[in-house]
Amino acid sequence: MNMMRRDFLKTGMAAVGAASIGAVAEGIIGKSAAAGETAAPDYKLYALKYAGPFTSSVAMVIFLKDWDKKIKRNYYIWAVQGGGNTVVFDCGVRPDFAAERAWLRASYVSPDKVLKRIGINAAEVEHLVISHIHFDHNGGLELFPKAKVYVQRKEFDFWVYDPVAKRPPCAHVSDAAAIRQLGDLKGSERLVLVDGDREILPGIELLLTPGHTIALQSMAVKTAKGLAILTSDCAHVHKSYEIDTPSCLITDMPGWLRSYTKLREKVNGNIKMLFPGHDKKMLDDYPVVAEDVTQLV
Ligand SMILES: [Zn+2]
Repeated sequence: MNMMRRDFLKTGMAAVGAASIGAVAEGIIGKSAAAGETAAPDYKLYALKYAGPFTSSVAMVIFLKDWDKKIKRNYYIWAVQGGGNTVVFDCGVRPDFAAERAWLRASYVSPDKVLKRIGINAAEVEHLVISHIHFDHNGGLELFPKAKVYVQRKEFDFWVYDPVAKRPPCAHVSDAAAIRQLGDLKGSERLVLVDGDREILPGIELLLTPGHTIALQSMAVKTAKGLAILTSDCAHVHKSYEIDTPSCLITDMPGWLRSYTKLREKVNGNIKMLFPGHDKKMLDDYPVVAEDVTQLV
């Protein structure tokens, strides 16, 4: 049990009292009283496409398979809402970065504009989780000026401080300006450096799932359909979970496969509740709630 959980338990009864009208309407009090636990709401999960589709070789997203075949993939951020909380998972690319790259700007919409389509004001978002420090996942940090930013300490230390992170293969997948912005948060209350697994709100837990990068984190979320996990680039496409084969963008393959074991166990084998980082199906196969926004659960 971490500090946040203890604090919640200490103040939980007062909060339940204060929020009782809304809570009764959502059936939270009845459930939590019966279970004798804190009132974790059922969250809704949204995938928001901010760029794409892009075409690449299948071998890029499925390790060494089908060099000659092509696949389309999208760039996303995700939003989770429930119990009055909004958590944004990954923050996409910042507008200046996109503007400098013709291949990206043609389909790019600033992530804050996509969030607005479902009524979320990025400037007011309080919780931003960064899965890993690649340009398409942490680049849009400046769009969330008030958010508490949750990132794994090992991931932060590597990208912000390690000179290896500036060398070509690492520089190619990162955004130096966005990394400087993130580094500047060190010492402020906005930066939360996470060591391993940690519950950040009732029903929302960060999971250390390395492999693609040194310390990529996934986010497990309680939903009406059971536990769902936003896994970002732990898999670029869902097929990776089906055939136990990640992408070719590897930091640690054995560690990566252990992360697959951990994720599968967490959802009791129900891998359809694992949501990957770039799968076009997230946009195509789920109910559309706004332009380029789908509700996953
Ligand atoms: Zn990615």
